[in-house]
Amino acid sequence: MQSNHTNNMGGGGNKLENLSHHCKETKPNPLAIFIKDKKRWILSLVKNSKQHQKLKAELAQLQINLDSTQLKLLDSIKQNQILQNQLKSQESKIKLQDSKLTKLTPQSYLRILEIHLAEHCNLNCFSCNHFSQLAPKGFPDILQFKQDMERLSNLTFGLVGRFHLMGGEPLLNPNCKDFFQVTRKYFPKSAIWLVTNGILLESQPKDFWESCRENKIEIHPTKYPIKVNWEVIEQKCKDFGIPLIFYDNSNIQKTSYKTILDLKGSLDSLNGFSYCHQANNCTHFKNGKIYPCSIAPNIQYFNAAFHQNLPITPIDFIDIYKAKDYHEILQFLAKPIPFCRFCNLAKWKSIGEWKTSKKEIGEYLE
Ligand code: SF4
Ligand code: SF4
Repeated sequence: MQSNHTNNMGGGGNKLENLSHHCKETKPNPLAIFIKDKKRWILSLVKNSKQHQKLKAELAQLQINLDSTQLKLLDSIKQNQILQNQLKSQESKIKLQDSKLTKLTPQSYLRILEIHLAEHCNLNCFSCNHFSQLAPKGFPDILQFKQDMERLSNLTFGLVGRFHLMGGEPLLNPNCKDFFQVTRKYFPKSAIWLVTNGILLESQPKDFWESCRENKIEIHPTKYPIKVNWEVIEQKCKDFGIPLIFYDNSNIQKTSYKTILDLKGSLDSLNGFSYCHQANNCTHFKNGKIYPCSIAPNIQYFNAAFHQNLPITPIDFIDIYKAKDYHEILQFLAKPIPFCRFCNLAKWKSIGEWKTSKKEIGEYLE
């Protein structure tokens, strides 16, 4: 019966069962799910925390490594800087020694010989190291000059690298071209520079330019902060094929430099000579005598202007009529002269903007 009954229920009873099964599957117990999720979450927290701790430890170790690497790097940068400074100071010591050695070594032949074509100047520069702002009007005698150049040419076999015809202002000499001609005659292979402030170049007559061309004179002006029509001068030089080369660089204007003397002459001559940029370099030729610089041969103008008596003795120069040969001249120029004791080289300095002289002794004192 029962089975019948069941049977009687027929397919309808099965359907209900199936339905109830189906409901069980699609409607999970939310609490169980919640607990399950929370479990998972808590487990993941525990797991993550371990991971975090591990990562943190690794990071801390990395930081320690980084800090120590940084310290090592900083240390080696410092060491490098110390080494670089030591190298720089070694380099400047070597350069100084090298420059001292150059001054105290006789030249193989004279590289530069300076000659005044005028003692005075049309510019009035502060602390001029030729004392030309203090000098009265004066020119070398052309006959004496010819004789001196002939003797010098014989002594040197015509082997002088370069002449600087200068001053003072050389163009104040109305007979410049005669001096060009004599210099070229006795020194056919040397370079001859006309070293000028340029003020009088524009007004030079045609025969001046022709003489420059014939005697292969190069014009080397210094640019002072004064009005000079350089365009016209450049054109003139182009027209006559004469090299025009500015001192240093055409854009640089002259600044002022203070040449400081010690009136008592109490300094060490060798020390002064060794540090002097003029020594055995700006060799000066005046009245048949050669000096190692421009200071000693022109100190007479300082003495006269300021009632001083910084003496020049016969052992401060070499007389070309007494020198037995070129070798003796070159040897002489590579040694300090007694006058070096008056030059306070350690105090010589650039003082910036170019300025004019008030013709005061203070321009040459500390
Ligand atoms: S520095 Fe030159 S331009 Fe100036 S006063 Fe002396 S010689 Fe003349
Ligand atoms: S006298 Fe001596 S130290 Fe003075 S400028 Fe001449 S060479 Fe240099």
